Amino acid sequence: MSPEKKVSAEKDAHRDVHSLTRGELTELLASLGQPAFRAKQVEEWVWSKNARSFDEMTNLPKALREELASRLSMGAAVEVARQASEDGSRKYLLRLSDGVTVECVGMPSRNKLSVCASTQAGCAMGCAFCATGAAGLTRSLTAAEIYEQVMHVRDDFGERVTSVVLMGQGEPFMNYDATLAALRRLNSPDGAGIGARHLTVSTCGVIPQIMRFANEPEQFTLAVSLHSAVQRTRNALMPGVKKYSLVNLYNVMGEYVSKTGRRPTYEYALIGGVNDTDSELQALCDFCEGTLAHVNLIQLNEVEGSKFQPSTPARAEDFVRRLASVGVEATVRNSRGADIDAACGQLRQRVERRSR
Ligand code: SAH
Ligand code: SF4
Repeated sequence: MSPEKKVSAEKDAHRDVHSLTRGELTELLASLGQPAFRAKQVEEWVWSKNARSFDEMTNLPKALREELASRLSMGAAVEVARQASEDGSRKYLLRLSDGVTVECVGMPSRNKLSVCASTQAGCAMGCAFCATGAAGLTRSLTAAEIYEQVMHVRDDFGERVTSVVLMGQGEPFMNYDATLAALRRLNSPDGAGIGARHLTVSTCGVIPQIMRFANEPEQFTLAVSLHSAVQRTRNALMPGVKKYSLVNLYNVMGEYVSKTGRRPTYEYALIGGVNDTDSELQALCDFCEGTLAHVNLIQLNEVEGSKFQPSTPARAEDFVRRLASVGVEATVRNSRGADIDAACGQLRQRVERRSR
């Protein structure tokens, strides 16, 4: 190898192929004397076929596969643990290239496969009821690392993924650019080809990013974790978004709806004696009445060592009825995978903790 070629190969050595734009990939291939169509071929292997090595790219000349392997890494996540739930859900613990682990879940139901993916390892927002929040933030994930979780589940089930919710570990809007890039790959016909409306981002309510999201051209779905429409209660439950008041949240959601015409979801985990009282219910009705919204009531998943208890199922039904009486659509969602701690808010880096 000439000295210049060696230097550039070393420079590229740790660049992950997933991090290259089409333009960068085309440029690299051109510098290797390859025709333009090779970039599309490589991208198809990387993004649609989820290849784990350059060697799998059988429609590329062998010499080119070797050359690419010497210049680029493929950063494939490695499954280090898995659990299967009685309801068919599977939870995976994936180890990323630097050793950090994240969890994702596959949830099958009649010809559908839904994936819950993480956007960060841990989370800095510190919600009082959330297992991820208790552990703090390790780091944000790259777009490829978010995308790869979905592909991992797809390949394990051997089925097309029909929807994705970014409700695993982390706050997507504290990792906005990578989240958006991952959503675009998931949406793209050159990627996973999942319809934008079936791609949902859940945020604890980072207001500036909600507006940014409203202005994106794709019709992605938005869920906002509300959990209380009483400022004092919400501050105590969700200290990370204290600075964004409920009044501001209400206003920005109004702008979101008028800008997009899409119905946002409010997530509301019912916590006995905390946010399920009559005055909390009244405040929730006031917050939602007359707006375009869907309220998703979730029975709180109990978190080890937490003082919070779920409300009774009867109380959840009271909430549904009262909300309906003021014209607000609400449903009670059963958590999938509760027996394997895969339900929302219970993803925690267990294996990592054990090995510390
Ligand atoms: N950070 C984002 C997305 C990840 S959390 C957010 O907060 O929206 C995904 C959902 O799980 C959120 O609605 C969150 O409030 C909820 N959640 C967290 N802990 C929970 C628990 N113990 N029981 C029920 N839902 C919980
Ligand atoms: Fe973070 Fe969401 Fe958990 Fe809050 S609920 S700590 S924002 S992952």
